Amino acid sequence: MNYDIVIGLEVHAQLSTNTKAWCQCEISTNAYENTKVCEVCSAQPGTLPVYNKQAVEYAIKLALATNSEVNKISVFDRKNYFYPDLPKGYQITQFDKPVGEKGFLEILDDEGNVKRIGLQRIQMEEDTGKSSHQGEKSLINLNRAGTPLLEIVSDPDMCTPKEASAYLKKLHSILVYLGICHGNMQDGNFRCDVNVSLKPKGSSKLGTRTEVKNVNSFRHVEMAIEYEVQRHKELLDSGKSILQQTLLFEIETRKTKVLRTKSDADDYRYFPEPDLLPLVITQEHIEKVRSTLPELPDAKIKRFMDSYGIPLYDASVLTSEKALANYFEESLKGYEGEAKKMSNWIMVELLRYLNEAGTSIDRSPVKPSSMASLLNAIQSGKISGKIAKDVFLKMFDTGKAAEAIIKEMGLEQISDEKALIEIAERIVTANAGQVEKYKGGNERVFGFFVGQVMKETNGQANPVMTAEILKKILGQ
Ligand SMILES: [Zn+2]
Repeated sequence: MNYDIVIGLEVHAQLSTNTKAWCQCEISTNAYENTKVCEVCSAQPGTLPVYNKQAVEYAIKLALATNSEVNKISVFDRKNYFYPDLPKGYQITQFDKPVGEKGFLEILDDEGNVKRIGLQRIQMEEDTGKSSHQGEKSLINLNRAGTPLLEIVSDPDMCTPKEASAYLKKLHSILVYLGICHGNMQDGNFRCDVNVSLKPKGSSKLGTRTEVKNVNSFRHVEMAIEYEVQRHKELLDSGKSILQQTLLFEIETRKTKVLRTKSDADDYRYFPEPDLLPLVITQEHIEKVRSTLPELPDAKIKRFMDSYGIPLYDASVLTSEKALANYFEESLKGYEGEAKKMSNWIMVELLRYLNEAGTSIDRSPVKPSSMASLLNAIQSGKISGKIAKDVFLKMFDTGKAAEAIIKEMGLEQISDEKALIEIAERIVTANAGQVEKYKGGNERVFGFFVGQVMKETNGQANPVMTAEILKKILGQ
């Protein structure tokens, strides 16, 4: 392709505070319509907002966790626009002085190298209500109105759909590690606006961008970008220009459709919110919040590599979710072998089956302790790695322990030397022709004998012992 892809992302993360941003209303996604509403969040005349200290603390947490500068004084602004589910007629947000600025986080690019993605800003704002349409009528539910949000704006540092989703996954995991966002994408806790543009390869001048609004799955973000890149490319190749548009991604057609064409500058008439004083954050407050930060994904990646000797890729996958990282560490507790082997089993087998079953690591039918005993059984030579996969599948389906299944299925590896010698001798005697070939120097025939022993024992013969015994019998 003759173009460079430029991708920037804006994320809206709903904070998991107890109450809304400017009032005492409880935040609830499943409460009956318009029952979590008061004078403030329904914008009755004469009411005043009071900012939520917990939301401020959460914003500082994210700023610190993403290497951002925390502004000691930040200002709330009004963004004026009319929309039925925005009762005040404006949104309280931040404009030129957000809580956090100039941060970054690190992802693995498509080649597996560490890449730094800049964070322009982290600002505090509020969510709108929700409207739904029934025939001629439109209904408004204000339960969500005033829910605290953090808007996190990246620099346009990503150049492939995969990098964009890697960035989102990292940001998502940081929010969940911090315990400041439920991160439930289906419920809209974590939503993303995608900005895409193309520019001639190597050029420093950015092309016209389009914005795809409110995408709420990592996969859909990748699909929306893939579609937009192709669309831009075709337009540019045929000499047409790109219109600056706001789009929606339709899952059914896997295409974007136009929501509105932007005029040069949308004029929201931002001005400082007169009802809220500037937010003053002291160094002492910042340090206090810093002392409450948990171990974050990057620190965990490093620790996993150092103390368990697993590669960067493994550590990145295993720390991508807090629950997965905990699972891995739990499973190592009762396991006597190398951590890398456990890592392989979790990444290749467990994650695949969880994915196919559409379930999450916290609901895994195979508990960490069972994973440990399965791998111990391989380690001690009780079962072969190949048979262990069948055992694992049974464990996943039934939730039973490894030992019980090995016993039930009679799968224990045969390490009884006498029994193996007997089988091997019988096979050698019955295949005189092959023995001659082998003695004549055709070493490949050795594999034939191993195969026969395996066949005879339904794959349960200890492979190392089998090879030793056969070598002895065949006179080597
Ligand atoms: Zn309220």
